[in-house]
Amino acid sequence: MIYLDNNATTKLHPEVLEAMMPFLTEAYANPSSGYQCSRQVKKAVDRARGQVASLLGADPGEIIFTSGGTEADNTAIASSIACLPERKHLVGSTVEHPAVLQFFEMLEREHGYGVTLVPVDGNGELDLEQLEAAVKPGETALVSLMWANNETGVLFPIPEIAQRLADKGVYFHTDAVQAVGKSPIDVKEAGVHFLALSGHKFHGPKGVGALYASSHVRLKPRIIGGAQEANRRGGTENVASIVGLGKATELMQAKLAQGGHLKLRDERDYFENALKSRLPGVQINGHPDHRLTNTANLAFEGIEAQALLIMLDEAEICASAGSACHTGSLHASPILSAMGMARERALGTVRFSISSFTTREELDEAIELIVRSVEKLRQLRPGASVVEEHAST
Ligand code: PLP
Repeated sequence: MIYLDNNATTKLHPEVLEAMMPFLTEAYANPSSGYQCSRQVKKAVDRARGQVASLLGADPGEIIFTSGGTEADNTAIASSIACLPERKHLVGSTVEHPAVLQFFEMLEREHGYGVTLVPVDGNGELDLEQLEAAVKPGETALVSLMWANNETGVLFPIPEIAQRLADKGVYFHTDAVQAVGKSPIDVKEAGVHFLALSGHKFHGPKGVGALYASSHVRLKPRIIGGAQEANRRGGTENVASIVGLGKATELMQAKLAQGGHLKLRDERDYFENALKSRLPGVQINGHPDHRLTNTANLAFEGIEAQALLIMLDEAEICASAGSACHTGSLHASPILSAMGMARERALGTVRFSISSFTTREELDEAIELIVRSVEKLRQLRPGASVVEEHAST
């Protein structure tokens, strides 16, 4: 198998599994119990909290473990509106993940909230003047914007946005699920109130994540029922996964310090350039520079992405059209549509996302197969413009 879908999820790092194993076997005590062996488990949870905090430049007390990115996003939104109950307006962008968008939609539908979704341009970028203008003084409770887009990898300038919002008296949350571990992030420099992350996006386990909540803001718990996480998230801790998340953040911090994300950019660029030089009609979706270094969102003119994905799947190459959450639907990706992309180009788009486990040999093998498959699909549709163009040159 050649796995080129690392924005959907990632391989568990062997060192993460190793760190988790004791807590799946003999170290099973409840960290809240009073005896010696539970204190060791609690220590492991605290160590993981320190590891996550260190990656983000946060204080350990500002990290709350959750069941993943979705819960962290939901908690930030729910807490913000609970702390500012008189405010009934929320701001996001048109390309947010459903973990934010669907919560906003529910608040609009069932609780009378007004929601302003700021549009993005053809590169997937925001107009910051327009964003600022969307905030209504005294009415807006929260601005929630993703750090990196899950499909295109496009990065929003979160620190700059935080600066613009600083005097507006609103909460600012960033869904950084796709950015953490892949891009350097410092929450204090960024100036956000909340940040969501998810373990399985950077070689940690699934079903575990964290919310950074600045010590300068109040956090109202979303999951109620126990004093865990300093009364901020009830429920017995998912100890093994939390330990795994901690280890994954430690590994990612070391990788980022060694410029691992820049090495990924070289590999991604190699992949894109090879496809572009060997096939006409290949375009990069999203800003060419302001995007995650591991993501290649590519439009292949004159083909349907679904057909290409089936051919790749037969060769055990994993990639996706749109995000994994929307797989199976034949609609153009809402994110590409929000960028104003023509339906045909959006339907011809495949997302490839690599990780540090991706080898050059795997990329070469994938490139060969993609080139052959796209050529074959274009021959099946002789009317497609790119094929004519190709034949005449
Ligand atoms: N936010 C973004 C941008 C994502 O890509 C994802 C996962 O695909 C999530 C939130 C949800 O994270 P989780 O799967 O950990 O709930």
